[in-house]
Amino acid sequence: MKTIRSVRFMQRVSRQLATSGKKIGLVPTMGYLHDGHLSLIKRALKQCDIVITTIFVNPTQFAPHEDLDAYPRDERKDLAKIKETGGQIVFIPKADDIYQPDFQTYVLVEKLTKTLEGEARPTHFRGVTTVVAKLFNICRPDISVFGMKDFQQAVVLKQMARDLNYPIKMIVAPTVREKDGLAMSSRNKYFNESQRQEALCLYRALKTAREMVRAGMTKTTKIRREMRSVVQATCPTAKIDYIAFTDSKTLQPVSDVTVQKTVCSLAVWVHNVRLIDNLKLS
Ligand code: AMP
Repeated sequence: MKTIRSVRFMQRVSRQLATSGKKIGLVPTMGYLHDGHLSLIKRALKQCDIVITTIFVNPTQFAPHEDLDAYPRDERKDLAKIKETGGQIVFIPKADDIYQPDFQTYVLVEKLTKTLEGEARPTHFRGVTTVVAKLFNICRPDISVFGMKDFQQAVVLKQMARDLNYPIKMIVAPTVREKDGLAMSSRNKYFNESQRQEALCLYRALKTAREMVRAGMTKTTKIRREMRSVVQATCPTAKIDYIAFTDSKTLQPVSDVTVQKTVCSLAVWVHNVRLIDNLKLS
């Protein structure tokens, strides 16, 4: 396994790989890897000769008050996990190599970034699309794999790839969960054991929504009300940012789950940690 830290060198290596006809897969991450991330690498390995995993805690997708400095990091463990999974290249650029001091060019997907996470974190997606566009330019992948865990991010990035004519197959892989249903997330490490139990409030609420839909209840106002009470029952101090029912492609709100392909997503503050999760309902 090769670790590359320089943007220039990464560009040179990916150009050579492309010229020699290798199929390149890209898995962008912010590190502190768990089985969810590794599932993306495995998925890419199935379809590619070489998988490049990137580890970069991207400053432009964090607002000044967010957890950029506190974001968990463990490069040594990450490298061991990627190696064990079979990833061949790890790209770990420095922030000032990605963003030169006079950096001033951003990529913005306009409509899809206005709702859900974009409403709560207005500058977030501009940072995500900008850094992923850069990683596409540097690593020249044939395919790139993203997690359903960040459902809106995947939709936004697919739109960006289409709009900017990147010849890249965009794959969205399912959310990997702990045995009890908690979606794996690097941020789960902020919790002690009892807080971690309370973090289950998101998944429990989503399961309730799915059960209601299966039982024939499809009005989202009713489902949302029930989900709110499940969240509060599991984590009494939880602060719900949003519980949304949206069309899986346009991200526009739906009032009845049967009408369109609906994804229910929610963001909840659990003991000062903001968690997100989602589930397809129809
Ligand atoms: P992050 O390191 O949080 O930026 O995530 C990097 C990639 O891993 C993104 O495409 C995420 O959607 C994906 N990811 C994060 N958590 C999970 C999970 N539990 N299951 C599957 N993919 C995930």
